[in-house]
Amino acid sequence: MAMRTPIESGVPDNRQYMHPALLKNYGNWRYHDRPRPGVLHHVSHTGDEVWTVRAGTQRQMDVYTIRKLCDIADTYAEGHVRFTIRSNIEFMVSDPAKVDPLIEALTSNGFPVGGTGNSVSMIAHTQGWLHCDIPGTDASGAVKALMDDLYTEFIREDMPNRVHLSTSCCEINCGGQADIAIIVQHTKPPTINHDLVANVCERPAVVARCPVAAIRPALVNGKPSLEVDEKKCICCGACYPPCPPMQINDPEHSKLAIWVGGKNSNARGKPTFMKMVASGLPNNPPRWPEVSEVVKRILYTYKADARSWERIADWVERIGWPRFFEKCDLPFTKYLIDDWRGSRSSLNASTHIRF
Ligand code: SF4
Ligand code: SF4
Repeated sequence: MAMRTPIESGVPDNRQYMHPALLKNYGNWRYHDRPRPGVLHHVSHTGDEVWTVRAGTQRQMDVYTIRKLCDIADTYAEGHVRFTIRSNIEFMVSDPAKVDPLIEALTSNGFPVGGTGNSVSMIAHTQGWLHCDIPGTDASGAVKALMDDLYTEFIREDMPNRVHLSTSCCEINCGGQADIAIIVQHTKPPTINHDLVANVCERPAVVARCPVAAIRPALVNGKPSLEVDEKKCICCGACYPPCPPMQINDPEHSKLAIWVGGKNSNARGKPTFMKMVASGLPNNPPRWPEVSEVVKRILYTYKADARSWERIADWVERIGWPRFFEKCDLPFTKYLIDDWRGSRSSLNASTHIRF
C-alpha cells in the first residue's frame, strides 16, 4: 500500500505508526470479542490475534505523563499506542501473556483499564482554557471531577448500553452529541467595552455573526462601536469570538446546563439530538458538585430503569419526557426540551452532514 501524501492541513498517514499486526491484517479481521472490561481481542482471517488494552487518561497531559505512558508501552506492550476519540489510550499486544502485566502496570500507575462495551467511557470534552480563547468554563476540570465519581462505571460494563458523556465550554462551537452533556449556558447579553470595539473588532463581521440580528453599529462617545438589542439577544455568545470587547463570560451569570439523549451512531436507530433537561446550574470549580449530582442522578435512574441495550435516547423515547422528569426528580419548565417540529428542516438530521 502506498503511503498517502501528507497535506498541510491533514493528519499524517496513520499506517506508519500502526502496530505491525494491525498493519498486516488491515481490513481482514474475522471477529472480535471482549475477554474482560477494557480488553478487546481481535482475530484475523490469517489466524493472527491482537489484544488491545484500553486505559483512561486525563486527556490534557503533561510531558512526564506521556513519557510514563510511552515507557509502559515499551516495557509491557509492544511499543505501539493509539488514542481513541474519547481520549482513552490503547496498547496493542500479540501475546495474551502480556495482557495481565500490562493491566497491572497501568492500574498501579493510576490509569484505570476500562471504557469498553456498556461502560461509561471517558467523557469527551472540548479544549477549554488550555487551547481556546472563548471558553466560559474549563471543560476538562468538570470532566476530571465527574470521572473521579464515575470511576467504577468506567472499569465495569454494567450499564444497559454504552454511555457517552461530554462537556462543552461554550454554547456554539465544538461540542457534539452525547447521551448526557454538560454545556455552558450564558444567561445575560454581552457587556460591551466601547473603548476597544473600534480597535479590535471588524464590525460588519460581528453584526453578521448574530443569529437573531440583535447587533447593530452605533456611535458611542463619538467612537464607532456596536449596540445590542437586549430583548432580541439569546445570549448565545457568538459575537464574543470575533469581538472580545463584547464580553459574554461572567463568573456569576455564565451557568451550566445538562442536555440528554444525543447519539451520533446509526446503530439500532437514527442519530438523535440532545435536549436540555436542567439549566442554570452554578459553574462551581474545582469540583462542580451541583453538576455532578444532576448527571449522576440521570445516569443512575437510567441504569435502574432502562431495558438492556437501550441508549438514553431510546429509554426516554419509551417512557416519555414527562416520566423522565418525574423519575429523575428534575423540575420541568417551558424552557427545557425543544420539540419544535420545524427544526427538522433547519437542523442537521444526519451525522454525515455538518455545518
Ligand atoms: S467548546 Fe467553544 S470554548 Fe470550548 S474549546 Fe470549543 S470553541 Fe472553544
Ligand atoms: S450573544 Fe448571541 S444573540 Fe446576543 S448579541 Fe451576541 S451573537 Fe447576538
